[in-house]
Amino acid sequence: MEKVRVRFAPSPTGFLHVGNARTALFNWLFARQKGGVFVLRIEDTDIERSAEKYEKRLIEDLRWLGLDWDEGPDVGGKLGPYKQSLRIETYKKYTQKLLETGKAYYCFCSPEELENERKEALESGEMPIYKGKCRSIPWDEALQRIEAGEQATVRLLTPDKGNISFHDIVRGTLTFDLKLIGDPILVRSSGLPAYNFAVVIDDSLMQITHVIRGEDHISNTPRQLLTYQALSLSPPRFAHLSMVMGKDNTRLSKRHGAIGVDQFEKDGILSSALFNYLALLGWAPPEGKDIWAKKELAELFNLEKVSRSSSIFDYDKLHWINRQHIKNLSSRQKAQLAYPHLREAAFLPEKMSDAHWRWLEMVVEGLIERVDRFSDLPTQVALLFDFYPSEMKDEIREELKTDCAPRIIKLFSEKISHVENFDYDKFAMMTQEIKKETGCKGKGLYHPLRVVLTARGSGLDLDKFIPMVEEGAKLKLPKPLKSCSQRVAEILGFLSESDL
Ligand code: GLU
Repeated sequence: MEKVRVRFAPSPTGFLHVGNARTALFNWLFARQKGGVFVLRIEDTDIERSAEKYEKRLIEDLRWLGLDWDEGPDVGGKLGPYKQSLRIETYKKYTQKLLETGKAYYCFCSPEELENERKEALESGEMPIYKGKCRSIPWDEALQRIEAGEQATVRLLTPDKGNISFHDIVRGTLTFDLKLIGDPILVRSSGLPAYNFAVVIDDSLMQITHVIRGEDHISNTPRQLLTYQALSLSPPRFAHLSMVMGKDNTRLSKRHGAIGVDQFEKDGILSSALFNYLALLGWAPPEGKDIWAKKELAELFNLEKVSRSSSIFDYDKLHWINRQHIKNLSSRQKAQLAYPHLREAAFLPEKMSDAHWRWLEMVVEGLIERVDRFSDLPTQVALLFDFYPSEMKDEIREELKTDCAPRIIKLFSEKISHVENFDYDKFAMMTQEIKKETGCKGKGLYHPLRVVLTARGSGLDLDKFIPMVEEGAKLKLPKPLKSCSQRVAEILGFLSESDL
């Protein structure tokens, strides 16, 4: 059996869109499922839009997502180079072959002429297809004009009638009317190959067996097939993936939210979660659960079962999946992933001691279930730092106007001022004593204690809150964290006699 060889062939013209990342991921899953080869090829012949920095970023983003390739610009391979700008001589050789056998011809039409032809066609309700004016220029004459320095493109000579069909693994048989396909440009007047030409040469020389790409390339496929025919090369099989849409059924764009893979990373989405989510975008493993590891997905992937209909990118579902993946991390891993976000929010120092890391682990473990993403953690951590008795809401003051509250607060402030190394156990003991001494219990007992420690009416359970602030108060942090006894002392200064 032939060995499966697939490729992802991005153009380095910008960031990696999640839609393209999904294409890369399906190629990777297919290669791994079949024990095949995954190739990365950089399609950088559009020199005006391509840049080295985008190529670097693409590679970083793909790696972050958890993809690896067996052949590519950075890892090498026997069928390289894997960058189109390094393959120009090869394309020239094939262009020559097509020209010499009469399967392609020089086209001297100027851009203005072509634009006029296009406009006229549109005005008379026809498809704007190149009419083939330069087809009839004799070869000798064309050569003379080229030698004289005239600018020309190279076009493929295509039949004017009939059909061309191919079987698409996702969409079944697709047929195109040749009347609607003009002679495609293979080589631009700059001498650089057009996408439709370079892709055929590369897929063929790199022995690609399956081309898996976005459905926006379907209309290119008949042009590529005609090029394979002209070169007597056998084409690969094709699978065109449907588009990734936003909830409003338009193509996923910035308006819908994050779309660059690096943005998801910055937002605190785990790569394993994005991987998991993207794999389910247009494909479903036989067992209908939502949480999958990369390895399991690679075992189960089935290209034949990929859906034809477009998929909707559901941010809520991605966030839910992210939450499930976060749960599977160790405390240290969670702390490490939380660190950049909390550092940026200036809650943590640049230099972290072991004690800082231990504290961070405790804080993250305690707060993580309240968020979907690491980027949401600073808002939660702020609740430990923000203690503003002067801004306490009136309704909270009102809640302290009970028989029990003033007595509880007084007793608690006395007790806490006499204790060293306050912690949750000591708090629990004090609460029992206060309960006995005042006869107050339940919410009437706990609520005033929460208010003196947080200046708020609700929040984190105190068994989590107390160790977080007590341990944090011992550390050197960019913004100091107040201990429980400091909080009690401070709040007493704000509560008037009438409050107590
Ligand atoms: N460079 C093309 C793109 O980024 C590749 C298309 C293909 O896979 O053939 O859209």
